[in-house]
Amino acid sequence: MQLLKKQLSLEEKNQINHQVRAELIDHLYRGCLPGVISGVPASTAIFINFYGYSPLRLLIEWYIVFNSTLAGLAGLYFFHIKYKNRVSIQTWEWTYSLMMCACASLWVPCIYLMPNDLTRQFMFLIALFLITTGYGTGTIGQLKLCAATLNIILMPLILWCFIIKGGIVYNIIGTYSLIYLFFMIGANIRSTQWFKDSLKLKLENTLVSYQATHDLLTQLPNQRLLPQYIQAAINKVKNTQDTFALVCFSLNRMEMINDSLGHQAGDLIMQAVTHRLTALAAQQSKAANASEYVITISRKDTFNIIILPLQRETAEEKIKLLFSVLNEPFFLEKQGIKLTASIGVSFYGSDGNDDQSLLVNADAAMLQGKRSGGNRLEFYRTEINEQLPKQLELETDLHAALQNKQLLLYYQPLVCLRTNQIIGMEALLRWSHPTHGFISPANFIPLAEETGLIVPIGEWVLQEACRQTQLWHQMGFSSLKIAVNLAEKQLRQKDLIGTIQRILKETGFDSDYLELEITETAILDEAIIHVIKEFKNMGLSLSVDDFGTGYSGLSYLKRFSINKIKIDQSFIRDIPANYDSITIVSGIIAMGKELKVNTLCEGVETQEQLDFLKSKGCDFVQGYYFSKPLAANHFTDLLIKSQEHGAAIPAALSKA
Ligand code: C2E
Ligand code: MG
Ligand code: MG
Repeated sequence: MQLLKKQLSLEEKNQINHQVRAELIDHLYRGCLPGVISGVPASTAIFINFYGYSPLRLLIEWYIVFNSTLAGLAGLYFFHIKYKNRVSIQTWEWTYSLMMCACASLWVPCIYLMPNDLTRQFMFLIALFLITTGYGTGTIGQLKLCAATLNIILMPLILWCFIIKGGIVYNIIGTYSLIYLFFMIGANIRSTQWFKDSLKLKLENTLVSYQATHDLLTQLPNQRLLPQYIQAAINKVKNTQDTFALVCFSLNRMEMINDSLGHQAGDLIMQAVTHRLTALAAQQSKAANASEYVITISRKDTFNIIILPLQRETAEEKIKLLFSVLNEPFFLEKQGIKLTASIGVSFYGSDGNDDQSLLVNADAAMLQGKRSGGNRLEFYRTEINEQLPKQLELETDLHAALQNKQLLLYYQPLVCLRTNQIIGMEALLRWSHPTHGFISPANFIPLAEETGLIVPIGEWVLQEACRQTQLWHQMGFSSLKIAVNLAEKQLRQKDLIGTIQRILKETGFDSDYLELEITETAILDEAIIHVIKEFKNMGLSLSVDDFGTGYSGLSYLKRFSINKIKIDQSFIRDIPANYDSITIVSGIIAMGKELKVNTLCEGVETQEQLDFLKSKGCDFVQGYYFSKPLAANHFTDLLIKSQEHGAAIPAALSKA
């Protein structure tokens, strides 16, 4: 792998220097071993010197030396293991210094007890040189310690040779000892430098290669390592019945969060997601039918996860668990942020036999999920790659859609439960594609947001909705309010306020009758808060769309005098079967009453749901029970019929 050599920061250099010192301490410990071990023959030699040689004496001497050496080694080992991580480097240096100086000074009295016999004196000298060699190499990296111990050991001998003994032989021995002393110190200095340099180089290389293969924010392996991990997974399952999945887990809206709250906020979120993902992986690996999870990061908002082994039959349940890491909002200071993700999956074997094809296909599946509105799990299918050019084609077509007048607005009535009257309608965008027919906004709005086309499209929607409602007002339905959806990107559009003012002026539409729908997740930062305040100053109404699916704290409800909460249809869908949904919807309606904010339930389809919502005191409803979204002319018919009937007519009756 080609690694980039990069300049190390001061902090990294300090870190390396610290590690070098720690390694030297470790080396000192290991260095003590030759010191101690060389003491064994040396001590034996000295014993022989004093007590003479006989097999029995030798055995006793050997026994004493051997056992005391063993005891010394064991003591050293336990001291090292026990305190290695707890004691500071400085304490280590001091402890060893004292220990070694104490050992060295033990030899000193022997010099004064030197026997007169020249042969014995030579044996003694050999023993001393053995010991000094041991200490000299053992103290590499510790110059002061080396100089102190060598001096303690050799200086008495040198002085003894020159001053007490004198004569040619002893002068030669003294001179050699002196040279040997300097030589050992010089060797110590040289090898310390060499040792430190090579250690630094090794650590630097380790650090640089770590940095090249890891994301430093999350400390996860990056895409450089991913092919190796995939290959390892392939090797594991190759000749077995097992397979594994490569999951592409991509967070939605991260770009928006980075742009609006700053990269630091985005970084904190990425770290928090990493933390939750690794915790989930650890928990899943421990569970029954454990799978191994390998989590890597490939882009600023995308994780690649290998789940091994994983069977297709149980895959959906297991992979969907990944969404659960986003259940809880992420808190940045006091602000809560709710995130969603798009997940794409490819399987080894069926969707690819090598790292590249598995990666490309998982990515394509993820992209498909993202384009279909996000927050989805998509398994790779061959059609996805066939659809991809279609997606690109769709993107080009969307550019032309506005000019070619392929965009339409449909309207869905909003009904007041107290009066049973249609009080307004929501404008819902439709794309009548020349070859693909009607395309749902859920499919092309994400595309429009991604390409930025939502801005001109949104402007057209506002213009058209105001123009059409003005017509209905002129027809006599003068109390109708129009609700228009605003995408998050529109809220960040440069001159949104100016655009709305211009549209109101051009269409002659009164701002009192215009309601803007925003999602709670869009209320992210000061820039948006400023825009929302401006809306209120202009006299526009505000409603929170899909309430309950996002999270940003509830304080904004009062802070911006929100007019309406639109409870998401996912909660209404299971009423009356699901007790949780009943509790949630009742709770939100009660909260709305307390805060004096109107509540509207989306997706009302049945009489039972309507009865339940009436009993709870919900203010407004919207849903197929009354009408699906209709083209403007059909909506006019609906308005006329309802007026004749004196109330909003349920769809079933209206058809009859
Ligand atoms: P939304 O604003 O929550 O709109 C309500 C969606 O629920 C509409 O889907 C509507 O057709 C559907 N719906 C209403 N009553 C029922 C019901 O009883 N049962 C069921 N199953 N569905 C019901 P639609 O028209 O497909 O729009 C989807 C989303 O696309 C909208 O959700 C909105 O977020 C977005 N959208 C639509 N038009 C625009 C637009 O002009 N601008 C922007 N930015 N977004 C838009
Ligand atoms: Mg809406
Ligand atoms: Mg909605």
